[in-house]
Amino acid sequence: MSKILIVADHLDGQLNSSTARTVACAAEIGGDIDILVLADNAGPIAEAAAGLDGVSRVLTVERAENAHPLAAIYAPQIAAAAAQGEYSHVLGPNTTFGKDLMPRVAAKLGVAMVTDIAAVHGPHEFERPIYAGNAVNTVKAPDGQTLVASVRCASYGAVGAGGSAAVEALSLDAELPGHTRFVELQASSSDRPDLQTAGKVVSGGRGVGSEENFKVIYDFADKIGAAVGASRAAVDAGYVPNDMQVGQTGKIISPELYMCFGISGAIQHLAGIKDAGTIVAINKDEEAPIFEVADFGLVGDLFKVLPDLEQAVGK
Ligand code: FAD
Repeated sequence: MSKILIVADHLDGQLNSSTARTVACAAEIGGDIDILVLADNAGPIAEAAAGLDGVSRVLTVERAENAHPLAAIYAPQIAAAAAQGEYSHVLGPNTTFGKDLMPRVAAKLGVAMVTDIAAVHGPHEFERPIYAGNAVNTVKAPDGQTLVASVRCASYGAVGAGGSAAVEALSLDAELPGHTRFVELQASSSDRPDLQTAGKVVSGGRGVGSEENFKVIYDFADKIGAAVGASRAAVDAGYVPNDMQVGQTGKIISPELYMCFGISGAIQHLAGIKDAGTIVAINKDEEAPIFEVADFGLVGDLFKVLPDLEQAVGK
């Protein structure tokens, strides 16, 4: 039977929902599921992790060096925990956090890694998207060694929070490197929902035309309680910061509702919204490829359509 260790993804004392999605993938693999929380104060994070359905144990490693999620500091501890607990699988989310961290864990353990698990065929056989989501690759990982993998969170819903796993402090013998230290975190702060986990996302593309014009996108998003995303063209043109980019080289998201304004629908953009529930596209070009994937399409000038939409939502 598999023995699975999941690395908790957290920030500012809060467990990211990507962890609950990773647990859903682990449940498909089957076996015992433990969650490892590395933090300076693990309390509230461990409590949230212990509540996730299907989790057997939450293991905490509290030390000052774990105050910030530095991959170079976390990786040797995760590798030590994996070896000490003789885990068959070590899973993390394919968020920015997991993409940075999990390959280092694999390197520390001296094993290969499977990235972006989107479906499970068996404990060592998985589906993962390739070519910007245009093809699906089935990979078989070698048996008999610890499997390190990242989970494509957009492909999994979060498990429920009705569990009550035991929380245990773990003592590890791991040497931490001295070459990497936390200096500062520069992140845009926003009262809007988080782009990667929001249920509704409103995105703007090159068609929005300027940074100033993006105000109409923000205003509409605020009206319906949505997060704001953008195409790479909008990011490259400097209309919005790059952490808002959706797509192959941006964020992969799976909101229930995705509304995009002035976005043509390039395959690299579509790669980021493949798992969205309902896609609504507003574009003035009726030939735009986005209409091929949209559930609802409106051909029109976004600057004329948006005020009407706002009014309709207001009613
Ligand atoms: P455009 O393709 O220029 O489309 C603008 C659209 O706005 C047009 O369809 C136009 O009809 C419409 N429009 C203009 N004015 C209005 C108006 N007033 N009202 C309504 N509609 C209007 N792109 C991403 O988005 N995410 C990625 O992660 C990404 N990764 C990439 C990775 C690689 C390796 C490469 C090569 C490209 C990547 N791209 C990515 C870029 C991608 O190929 C496209 O260039 C980009 O998505 C285009 O953005 P856009 O749709 O905003 O712009």
